[in-house]
Amino acid sequence: MAKPADTRTAGRKPVAKATAQATRSAAETEKIRAALAARRDELRAEYDQTLSEITELQRDRLTDSAGDDQADTGTKTFEREQEISLANSIRERITQVERALERLDEGGYGWCERCGNPIPVERLAAFPSATLCVTCKQLEERR
Ligand SMILES: [Zn+2]
Repeated sequence: MAKPADTRTAGRKPVAKATAQATRSAAETEKIRAALAARRDELRAEYDQTLSEITELQRDRLTDSAGDDQADTGTKTFEREQEISLANSIRERITQVERALERLDEGGYGWCERCGNPIPVERLAAFPSATLCVTCKQLEERR
């Protein structure tokens, strides 16, 4: 008769090969999808906001630049460049979330690249581009 400990280890799949076979419950997948979609909407709103700020800065630059000295012009250019790089980084994050949504549909999203375990829904909601679970991420950072 097999000891209880043996039965448990025998039924366990090797961690490295778990990625392909492992599945999430449909409810969990829906939760991730909702979190990703909410994040995307948030980012899009932020992006629109940044774009209108750029437009405003641009308009300021054109309309009341008459009394500006070089320092003012420099500040405005700097602000505008800051806004543009912010807009670009938001755009980049939107793309990441969109890609995540696509991969979610294909079943390839939300698994730790290192250990193959599912990344917790909460973590994915906070960091849609996360490719490692918290444990592996911490190991990675310690190196
Ligand atoms: Zn991991």
